[in-house]
Amino acid sequence: MTWPPHCVRRNEPFADHTSFRIGGPAEWFAEPSTINELIRVLREAHQAGLPVSVVGGGTNTLAADRGIRGVTIHLGREFRIVRDVPQPEPAVARVVCGAALLTQRLVYLAAQHGWGDLESLAGLPGQIGGAVAMNAQDIGRCVRQVSLVRYDGTVTPLSRDQMQFRYRDAALEPGIMAEVELEFPRIPPEQASERIRQALAYRNNTQDTRLPSAGCAFKNPPGVGAGRLIDQLGLKGARIGDAQVSARHANFIVNVGQATCDDVLSLMEHLQQRVRQETGVVLEPELRLLGEQWNRWA
Ligand SMILES: Cc1cc2nc3c(=O)[nH]c(=O)nc-3n(C[C@H](O)[C@H](O)[C@H](O)COP(=O)(O)OP(=O)(O)OC[C@H]3O[C@@H](n4cnc5c(N)ncnc54)[C@H](O)[C@@H]3O)c2cc1C
Repeated sequence: MTWPPHCVRRNEPFADHTSFRIGGPAEWFAEPSTINELIRVLREAHQAGLPVSVVGGGTNTLAADRGIRGVTIHLGREFRIVRDVPQPEPAVARVVCGAALLTQRLVYLAAQHGWGDLESLAGLPGQIGGAVAMNAQDIGRCVRQVSLVRYDGTVTPLSRDQMQFRYRDAALEPGIMAEVELEFPRIPPEQASERIRQALAYRNNTQDTRLPSAGCAFKNPPGVGAGRLIDQLGLKGARIGDAQVSARHANFIVNVGQATCDDVLSLMEHLQQRVRQETGVVLEPELRLLGEQWNRWA
């Protein structure tokens, strides 16, 4: 393979790229700095028949202990930009963000410039590309379009309608989002800052941010919180290996030491079984699964 220079590493420890601090080596780990580098990496992988995955901040990702085969893309420098798109309509702000922009950088800019409707993202870890792929905090409502680089290296725009945003999911055809165009109402900056401050305070009071995790393990079933179901069964603190149900938020699984992917999966299966037996509700994972260990979910 002829990778672009200084862009691809072999056997990169994936645990360094997930908030859970879990995951074996990525066979090839590519950090393209520009769109041309990204296209070259994808074409090279395509020709070599290597599978391609993408990780953003790794804050919703559980990666296999035995590692990730093929090429994992982690977008670099030029994918962290924010560009203002001038609008004739003063009540509206429109920006283009690189997909690797930290979501918290966008929130910081929202407070400064008075971009409204973004307070639910306050404190959300990870990158804009990951947030859009997950429709985290319903960010899809602000998306106008994304620019997607398909695995064969061709680039295509996708409109909000094409992405069919739904609860913690979007219909993204296989590929890497490079840029996202977002639109929000303009509000006075002091109002934006205040709403963001309140949202942050609420998050800090309710979530477990002290120990490594990937946020909520399960999606909320219709009309009920997954955490509430787990909590009602007295499962806070349940532990397998070094994976433990958080004492603070029952839908968070935390890594209390050297947890493995296998520990987390076993604990998730245990929680699913107990909730199903006692309530009949089937909990669906919210975590995104990377690597082959996930075959055991089949
Ligand atoms: C403490 C904590 C609190 C959290 N709180 C919340 C919360 O309140 N609400 C919520 O919704 N989530 C929450 N999360 C989960 C997570 O932070 C969000 O889903 C976040 O937006 C994921 O972004 P990321 O960049 O880390 O995604 P990653 O974990 O890197 O990736 C998630 C998915 O997106 C895909 N992806 C990433 N980048 C791209 C790209 N450029 N192109 C195509 N696909 C891509 C990945 O392949 C993967 O399938 C929390 C997590 C933690 C650790």
